[in-house]
Amino acid sequence: MLVSATEMLKKAKAGHYAVGQFNINNLEWTKSILLTAKELRSPVILGVSEGAGKYMGGYDVVVGMVNGLLKDLDIDVPVALHLDHGSFEGCYKCIEAGFSSIMFDGSHYPIAENVEKTTELVKAAHSKGLSIEAEVGSIGGEEDGVIGMGECADPKECKSIADLGVDFLAAGIGNIHGKYPANWKGLSFETLAAVQELTGELPLVLHGGTGIPADQIKKAIDLGVSKINVNTECQLAFADATRKYIEAGKDLEGKGFDPRKLLAPGAEAIKATVKEKMELFGSVGKAE
Ligand SMILES: [Zn+2]
Repeated sequence: MLVSATEMLKKAKAGHYAVGQFNINNLEWTKSILLTAKELRSPVILGVSEGAGKYMGGYDVVVGMVNGLLKDLDIDVPVALHLDHGSFEGCYKCIEAGFSSIMFDGSHYPIAENVEKTTELVKAAHSKGLSIEAEVGSIGGEEDGVIGMGECADPKECKSIADLGVDFLAAGIGNIHGKYPANWKGLSFETLAAVQELTGELPLVLHGGTGIPADQIKKAIDLGVSKINVNTECQLAFADATRKYIEAGKDLEGKGFDPRKLLAPGAEAIKATVKEKMELFGSVGKAE
């Protein structure tokens, strides 16, 4: 059964580790992530962007697929199904469809409007037992056509959003989505520490987990980050393994064109990436 992300992130915060959010795109992605979480006894959050939800056919498809896998694969670790960077309307659709967690990305609204909309969604989510993430200070890079600049959040604005009752908060600290450019300055630990000081026990979320050096990830966890989002890294691993399979001509040998064979190296590569991240984040063995 799906659970909200509230409890698993409170435990992560108290235990000084982070839970990974891995974005899903299809059946192979979802299966690989869930099986790895089960094998490593780790809690996990499945992230679904609005674009990926649309790609898979809609939120009902996503909920049906995930619930089916939880049952048939006997996934007995905590799993949350979370809308990633949701719009106001998208959040309502996912609450309705049976997600167990939502993120409202109101970072592009003026702070007063972000506060107003977040307040409404906190009530809507909590009334149905879902957890809710909010965002302050846009995350750099591109996600579903929205380009952010990688700004650092204003700690006071973070405090005003935290006070609305959100369960965890994404604050921009110089992180970006996608691959990090060569001239990237690194995470702003000064901003992270200042946000943490004002938001207290609230778990913080680090978006754009792909390509941040391990020592910076560890330091961010020490400073209060309890959820780390990984998306691009699984995509790169999947593409790389699939390319190797095809370039080696394996799809031309025997029944190598069978999609179950063609997609297998990519699915295995996602498992390896997820395993590596769960080990780095310290969530292995924390399911119990
Ligand atoms: Zn993000």
